[in-house]
Amino acid sequence: MRLQDQLMQQLTAAEPEMIKIRRYLHAHPEASFHEKATAAYLKQFYQDLGLTTTDYGDGYGFVVDIDSGHPGPQLALRADFDALAIQEVNDLPFKSQTPNVMHACGHDGHTAYLMILARTLSNLKDRLHGRVRIIHQPAEEVSPGGAKSMLAAGVLDGIDHVLGLHVMSSMPTGSIGYHLNAAQTGRANFTVTFTGKGGHASMPHLSNDAIVAGSYFVTALQTVVSRRIDPFDTGSVTIGSFDGVGSFNAIKEQVQLKGDVRLMNEDTRQTLRKQITQIANGVGATFGVQVDMDYDDNYPVLMNDDDLTQQVIDSIRSADIPEITKIFDCGPQDPSEDFAYFAQAKPSSFIYAGCQTAPGENHPHHSPDFMMNEDCLLIAAKAMGSATLALLMAPED
Ligand code: MN
Repeated sequence: MRLQDQLMQQLTAAEPEMIKIRRYLHAHPEASFHEKATAAYLKQFYQDLGLTTTDYGDGYGFVVDIDSGHPGPQLALRADFDALAIQEVNDLPFKSQTPNVMHACGHDGHTAYLMILARTLSNLKDRLHGRVRIIHQPAEEVSPGGAKSMLAAGVLDGIDHVLGLHVMSSMPTGSIGYHLNAAQTGRANFTVTFTGKGGHASMPHLSNDAIVAGSYFVTALQTVVSRRIDPFDTGSVTIGSFDGVGSFNAIKEQVQLKGDVRLMNEDTRQTLRKQITQIANGVGATFGVQVDMDYDDNYPVLMNDDDLTQQVIDSIRSADIPEITKIFDCGPQDPSEDFAYFAQAKPSSFIYAGCQTAPGENHPHHSPDFMMNEDCLLIAAKAMGSATLALLMAPED
């Protein structure tokens, strides 16, 4: 039997198991940087198969190497396994058993499909060339992210290419989305504190109002994208938190604001940082308040390698997978992803598998009612499996 057919057949047979694993992970979520039990569960799966796991980085990340024993390309497949600090509102038999923690981004699905794909590739490894490195990555959701320290520890040493996949509730189940070049935004976050002088509301001349200073800052920030970014480029600046709860008759001494910055071009990163910092310092000078800025440039713009992505998509197309009804250029996606660090290090490709529960029904990722159509698991496994074979298959197969 053709290797491709054998892989598809084995994955189809393992679909119930993929779903079972995904549901177990869904019921037992752990937040970023706290995924101890999740990592132990995954490692047990591999140990039971007689496969060795190797830790990388300063979190719970690890890899499993599937070596064909034949020379050839070195390919890495990456899935993330952390959950979010969200209270699940779905009423499911496998709903989160942990208060205020939920797999609301689909990383349970990424992990489940990759475990089964890894086992299947391991079964067929004699017929492959090169090596597949399975990367189970923690802490995708929270800066600095889990990828960075795995990279620093050498997780991609000797690796030629990295592939990753995200399930997407904005895309119909059955669809595979992709985009060449800049595929997801880069991100920065900042915390700024303005400190004035508190006092009695009846005597503003004896105080220095931090709320007024903070408000000017929010207003002036609206000029960053509109006045400093080329209209053909893009970006966003959001203040997501502005504290300052107080009383009617007291002038606030201090306010703290938290901001989020997105960009699609790494050249824009410094412009945004410079302008935001300059406005904060300008507010300080104008109002005589103290400014403390903590600015964190984190996830890069996710740059897909064009040739590799085209190769991946061509291989999925020619695999003629019956469960895949549509393969389309979905355009760049707004959220940021720390897969971007892998893509900075090696030519990489990150694609999407639609997971909408019903046509037109779209519970956004990171919402307490996020759900996935579990058909996406088999689709993800088959798509990534086909791409893996195309990149590693022995010529006679
Ligand atoms: Mn995610």
